[in-house]
Amino acid sequence: MSDTPSASAPRLAALGEWIVRRDGASQEENPYWDLEEPEPHPDPSLGCVRRGVCCRSSPGWFGPGEAEEAAALVGMTPDAFVRAHLVVDGMEVDGRFVHVFAPVKLGPHGEPAIEPGRPVDALYRVLRGTCTFFVDKGCGIYGARPYECRHYDCTNEPEDNPQHDAIARMWLAAEEP
Ligand code: SF4
Repeated sequence: MSDTPSASAPRLAALGEWIVRRDGASQEENPYWDLEEPEPHPDPSLGCVRRGVCCRSSPGWFGPGEAEEAAALVGMTPDAFVRAHLVVDGMEVDGRFVHVFAPVKLGPHGEPAIEPGRPVDALYRVLRGTCTFFVDKGCGIYGARPYECRHYDCTNEPEDNPQHDAIARMWLAAEEP
């Protein structure tokens, strides 16, 4: 957003958009998200109105087998797709670190925030960044978008949105014989 916000609310500019600072829901993975939220939804009863806030904040996690489907959608091999567009994120579940794929976030100048195809660290995890597949205010892999993206709606109660530990457990289950 290029408009300068009014002085009525404390705000800051982050990655080219104005962020309102106020009390927010608990967010275990990113303590800063407790204080920073995007502009309020114009009418939560409408659900997703394609503001792209989630796509411009933190790309969703793929479920097992979905990166292959997204690769096929864009005509790439899974290996080339991962190396070009995804990162390896993850979390600990039941004492095991579980790896998952996610689209790479872009930096403020539109370049990948880190080299795709690599594991991410805690610093990358807290960075707000636009998903590499977010084009023309829409998803460039909509037909094969990640599990988290398919089930997330910013107007849901937090507990009704996909939880990362649940997605990690899907990957864990997929690994088991
Ligand atoms: S994969 Fe698509 S729906 Fe998911 S964050 Fe990226 S642009 Fe948004």
